Amino acid sequence: MGKNFLLIIVSVLISCSSGVSVIGNDEDTDKNLPDENYSSGNKTTGQLCVCDNECMDSYGLEGICFYGICALAADSCEKVCPQDHICRNFSIIEKDVCFRKWIVTDNVPNCEGVSDLDFSCINNLTEDLDPSCSKYAEKRICETYGGTSYSSPESAMEVNSNTRHFSHSCKESESWFKVNVGTGYYMEACLEFFLPMGDIDLFLYNEDLELVASRNPQDYDAGEKIDFYNTGLECLAVFAKEKTRTLYVAVKGTGDHFNSYQLSFRYLPFSDGARCIERGYTREMCDEIIQFPLSDTESVDEHENYRFQRFSNYRFGTRELVMAVRYAIGETTKVFENTNPLWIGIISQKNGLATGADVGVAFSYGSFSNHTNGKAIDLAYYQKNGDNKIRNVCSEGAPFYIDKCAEEDRENHIVDLERQLYLIKKLYNTGVFSGLFIVDQIIAEEIIKKAEINNLLDSSDKLHITDEELDFIKYYVAGEGLPRHNNHMHIGM
Ligand SMILES: [Zn+2]
Repeated sequence: MGKNFLLIIVSVLISCSSGVSVIGNDEDTDKNLPDENYSSGNKTTGQLCVCDNECMDSYGLEGICFYGICALAADSCEKVCPQDHICRNFSIIEKDVCFRKWIVTDNVPNCEGVSDLDFSCINNLTEDLDPSCSKYAEKRICETYGGTSYSSPESAMEVNSNTRHFSHSCKESESWFKVNVGTGYYMEACLEFFLPMGDIDLFLYNEDLELVASRNPQDYDAGEKIDFYNTGLECLAVFAKEKTRTLYVAVKGTGDHFNSYQLSFRYLPFSDGARCIERGYTREMCDEIIQFPLSDTESVDEHENYRFQRFSNYRFGTRELVMAVRYAIGETTKVFENTNPLWIGIISQKNGLATGADVGVAFSYGSFSNHTNGKAIDLAYYQKNGDNKIRNVCSEGAPFYIDKCAEEDRENHIVDLERQLYLIKKLYNTGVFSGLFIVDQIIAEEIIKKAEINNLLDSSDKLHITDEELDFIKYYVAGEGLPRHNNHMHIGM
């Protein structure tokens, strides 16, 4: 960082402080003055700004206007920045600032400055910026780099697994990429951006330009769930099982935003099967964390019979887990006619940390959560009404959160015990899940009763439960003292 850069910051700060004092004087008559740390502005991270007091963080506290863009303020460079951000102490302004941490190790394309491991090259463009405190970031960077020649599907840039595309996104810009995923391959597209909450979103379309999934909150039911958590990382993954799939990936900005981003692609060979290790993958490959691929809603393959009910950033599991769950869902769908998709909840984060670590919130309930390293997953219950979403199954229409089902819910519950038991049997038979199958205590007892009944069926019956399976179910399907598993089943490896 050059001296000129620091001078710019100082001069911006000086002109900003005078503005702050004027606002302060105006508000002196107000007896309900907010704490001085609360921002008088309402711009969130990534929006263009002039001075600090226009910016607020997610708690409403004053943010930092940095490069003309609202950034996050950190209390301490050691611990407060969100996951995958880097904290920099700017001693001359006595502030710590959290930046998205780039994983760029090569030279950044189109970079006039020097790109290092921590920042994109825009940090080196400040020397000749106008320090007059007015939208200079947008002006300078968007004039230089804004707009692309691939701003529509027709002009989409062809990409492959080696593509690591770096660009800037300015004011409602769109960038389109076309990707061919070969048969038997998994493809994951990941968008990482510099400003954690800059308003850009990742979109995925099929060959006919129909929406497959998106991170835009408006696109509710495209296999995606509203995602309030913008942490600078957005990924969407697909599996081309039966034929090569052509997909379009779009990066879109909305409103008065600015951001710098990197879009990268990961291709991996993939197949279905109960046990990863028996399908020719190495132990290392089976343990690799991947995003649970979006179900191919155009396919009639039984393994695609699921949907997602939780944030895409919380859907990362080991290949072994993903294969085992797809297998068990596929087997259940094959045996029971007219089985609706099963809805999948949280797994873990891409970096293996527990879901919610990226925003500093314990997303899963209770202290016993072990949604780490891609080795635990929440699944909805199969339900009598065929809904199969994560919902309270103690009785029809029960509120989402209650601690446990009541005694009378042995009669009232809406779990499809036959399908649920079959799913558990198939999950168990993969040999992958060795932990408890955590359900509600009342539901657990009903599942065990059903297993005892099916144990008496002829061994040629598909629904037959073997003695070994019954032993497992008796001791490992449990819920005692574990509240709120009446809306999903938690299983772990
Ligand atoms: Zn869980």
